[in-house]
Amino acid sequence: MTDRVLQPTEEGIGIAAERIRSGGLVGMPTETVYGLAADAGDERAVGRIFATKNRPADNPLIVHVADVEQARPLVDAWSDTCDDLAGRFWPGPLTLVLRRSGQVGDLVTAGHDTVALRSPDHPVASGLIRATGRPIVAPSANRSGHVSPTDAAHVLQEFPDEDFPVLDGGPCVHGIESTIVAIDDDVPFVLRPGAITLSALREVLGRVEAPVIGEQGAAPGTALHHYAPVTPATLVRTDELDELLAESEVPVVVLSIGPREADPPHSVIEMPEDAEGYARVLYRTFREADALRASVLIVEMPPLAGGLWRAVNDRLRRACVLRD
Ligand code: AMP
Ligand code: MG
Repeated sequence: MTDRVLQPTEEGIGIAAERIRSGGLVGMPTETVYGLAADAGDERAVGRIFATKNRPADNPLIVHVADVEQARPLVDAWSDTCDDLAGRFWPGPLTLVLRRSGQVGDLVTAGHDTVALRSPDHPVASGLIRATGRPIVAPSANRSGHVSPTDAAHVLQEFPDEDFPVLDGGPCVHGIESTIVAIDDDVPFVLRPGAITLSALREVLGRVEAPVIGEQGAAPGTALHHYAPVTPATLVRTDELDELLAESEVPVVVLSIGPREADPPHSVIEMPEDAEGYARVLYRTFREADALRASVLIVEMPPLAGGLWRAVNDRLRRACVLRD
């Protein structure tokens, strides 16, 4: 299995680029999560991505570019607003949804007349895009609906029987997916909260609209149940936690914010108390919790405060059942 791992050297990136140019798939590190990369202009390769992930055909892909120059030909019009956003946040975890040009295929956009574009802030991702010389689609490298990978080993875990190589870029810095913003004639709208916060966007855009956290988002594919661990997970308020643990007849794993005691057979995984730290380890912790094979996962609800907690709460509400 380990012979699928490519070191992030010029040679490793060169091998990966050749794979992509010849229609193959590659596991690619980014600063958000690991992506499953293919040539965005190769319909057969794009089709292979949907089949490998078992991704519904109505869930469009994000096209990854090295820079604004590579983005321009893919869109109908690149506005001053786009320049402002790219100037501030690219390369980085901000995806722009814009009206597409004829250069983007129907499969990539799931038939929409818009395309989602992002320039990743990771030397291996940008190295791979440049070495390939083409825009690259790269949805998260996991089976559809499951937890996104934040480490090369997670990609192998997700696809043990596939033969595509994985570039090892180490653990992802952000650990959750990009923020997606739709830019058209109206007020810009956040389709998915992510690593770029609403207040950072407002500094550039002024007005931005955003969905209520936990509701089905406006973006296609942002299903209410998503990013989920295998173990059934429940999101619980701090004041309910002790009582639930005392009552539970089955072993529970608690994801607690900061330290907490629990008597066996229950166990506790302590999560960081800051949003950045929490987001960085969230998906990895879901995988660790699954490995403990508890019957139930109880997640202590983080603060509803803004900043990056918005994106964390969005992912938790999709991964967990809410107790009411
Ligand atoms: P990911 O699965 O993290 O690569 O993110 C892909 C997501 O980007 C999709 O599930 C959609 O929510 C969003 N997306 C991609 N393309 C479009 C588009 N043309 N219009 C709106 N949302 C899009
Ligand atoms: Mg995904």
